[in-house]
Amino acid sequence: MATIGILGGGQLARMLALAGAPLGHRFLVVDTAEDACAAQVAPLLRADWRDFDTLEQFARRIDVATFDFENVPAATAEWLTAHTHVFPNPIALATAQDRYAEKSLFREIGLGTPDFAAVDSEDDLRAAATSLGFPCVLKTRRLGYDGKGQCILRGTADIAPAWAAIGGVPLILEAFVPFDSEVSVIAVRSRTGEFRHYPLTRNWHRGGILSASLAPLGGAGALEAQAVVHARVLAERLDYVGVFALELFVVDGKLLVNEMAPRVHNSGHWTIEGTPCSQFENHVRAVLGQPLGDTTARACSVMLNWIGELPDAGPVLAEAGGHWHDYGKAPRPGRKVGHATLCADRPGMLRDVLVRVARALGREAECAPVIAALDAG
Ligand code: AMP
Repeated sequence: MATIGILGGGQLARMLALAGAPLGHRFLVVDTAEDACAAQVAPLLRADWRDFDTLEQFARRIDVATFDFENVPAATAEWLTAHTHVFPNPIALATAQDRYAEKSLFREIGLGTPDFAAVDSEDDLRAAATSLGFPCVLKTRRLGYDGKGQCILRGTADIAPAWAAIGGVPLILEAFVPFDSEVSVIAVRSRTGEFRHYPLTRNWHRGGILSASLAPLGGAGALEAQAVVHARVLAERLDYVGVFALELFVVDGKLLVNEMAPRVHNSGHWTIEGTPCSQFENHVRAVLGQPLGDTTARACSVMLNWIGELPDAGPVLAEAGGHWHDYGKAPRPGRKVGHATLCADRPGMLRDVLVRVARALGREAECAPVIAALDAG
């Protein structure tokens, strides 16, 4: 039995605690918010990321620290390493926190990325847009997620408004990728160096937020092999321990890496029911140096994210392969409040389940591209 400390008390921490409990492990969560949803299943210490007195108490009560939130200040992670084991390590965390640093690393180790340039002034932005061409995507280097802190520039007229909207902080300009699809690979590396990966997952976003994920993908063998090589090279280079996600664009049959998430990831939620050992359980095993579990798909799975508010659970629960996750969070626009995973033995069966659920919940528009992908095999 070990006690695992988690910095951040959102749904990822909650699902980590729910996955680790059967193995006999205890959890302790640190968050600033009293209503952090992981606190419904694990004790909570309320503290700011710079409240080192409380963090010291935290470190004394745990065997290992990990993250539910990737934007914990790198200085806090670094400070913690003097008091307890911290996984992933602070350098890996700091690299993933900065879009420019992570893309530079991807390049250095031979992973294809969209063309990019650092932007620190409006003049830099003009120069970078001239060299990358339009359309291009301007993003904050730090603290961006779910499409926040981003704008698409379609021509020179967009430069000044984009700078006015998000300028003044370090930025990165990226070439716009006319991708055919977006995929992710969830991988895990243990303290012992053992490495495993889950099947490649296809993802759909709405308004920059993940809307649906589908896995495994028929006929994606070569792409999956490439994505896994990328993930493994990256994990070894960073001496990474724990689960991480690599988000990729598929364009003309090739992969370009968009970003890395140094934690369990929304596009891996389907692994709870869709594989023998979920991303959450494997993260717990990895940070404790225990043998990793089986990551092969045991069903075809679709994950639907509930953003803002929960729909009626009935149509999902009425399905034999329907699984419901309510994070216990207050509804709020743009907030991830839950998800459903639908599982079936074959893609055709999953399609029929998804059609029924989409119709019953009035979610036809969100589900249409997933249904089309299942139709296309
Ligand atoms: P990110 O926060 O970088 O994951 O971006 C959120 C979403 O914006 C991605 O999942 C893509 O759908 C889209 N996006 C981000 N960067 C690019 C890009 N360079 N080209 C095209 N679409 C992008």
